[in-house]
Amino acid sequence: MTHATGQETEQWLEVAPRVLVLRNPGFGMNTGLVIGDEQALIIDTGAGPRQGCAILTAVRERTDLPLIAVNTHAHFDHFFGNAVLAANGVQDIWATSRCAEAIREQGDSQRPAVAGVEAEMAAGEGVHTEILAPNRLVDGSPVDLDLGGISVTLFHLGRGHTDHDLLVGAGDVLFTGDLVEEGADPSFEDSFPKEWIRTLGKMTALEDLYSVFVPGHGKPVAVDFVTTQMNKMRTAVAVTRSAMDQASTDMTKAIPILPYGPEQSRALLMRLRTLARWKWLKQ
Ligand SMILES: [Zn+2]
Repeated sequence: MTHATGQETEQWLEVAPRVLVLRNPGFGMNTGLVIGDEQALIIDTGAGPRQGCAILTAVRERTDLPLIAVNTHAHFDHFFGNAVLAANGVQDIWATSRCAEAIREQGDSQRPAVAGVEAEMAAGEGVHTEILAPNRLVDGSPVDLDLGGISVTLFHLGRGHTDHDLLVGAGDVLFTGDLVEEGADPSFEDSFPKEWIRTLGKMTALEDLYSVFVPGHGKPVAVDFVTTQMNKMRTAVAVTRSAMDQASTDMTKAIPILPYGPEQSRALLMRLRTLARWKWLKQ
């Protein structure tokens, strides 16, 4: 195994006994680690072989146990490290079956996004730069994995940030993938905004089970943050839809009154317009 150089990993943050979070450089994606007595679980694998390798190095500072992995969803910063982990003994990579499908279908087209941090991955040239889809699938019902002394639950709550977001519960910690974003606006590009609001509602209803919510990016939060994100999104969707209903209005006029920055306001608008068109085509 060749370890990447110049790729500083920050320290693990212990959010609960046996449950840790590592913020990756570049996209600021949070990798989770759950350490059992018999095996350990890595949640999200980084933006390419360099990050994957740095994650593995950081994991090995904490545990020598056999490893399994999870991809929360099919966005490059969460799964481009799969190949390097697989090459280093990680046999099982879990995701929803729709996520695995999306990785196979759209993995290659996402390569340009990592040009700034993972040049080899962007070019698709070099060691461990192949797109590797998960081989263990969550389809419908939740999956419990016993790591020894702690078990994790993998489950899907409905469409949201994508059509296949997987959540990982470990002790009283819930890894939310990009369904929750701290320190940045939620990303709407592949999202289902109306359903996302519902999914966040279901997530907040789990507050008896989980007290720490680890977003895909940013600092761990409490349930109040998830509620706030849900309410903000509900407002944003309502404002955008009413702008869409007034056919004579220039929809971009809604952007300044949305509760997000211009980039994600525009993304939300475009996405709702695309979804409305799909619905119209299906009628
Ligand atoms: Zn994402």
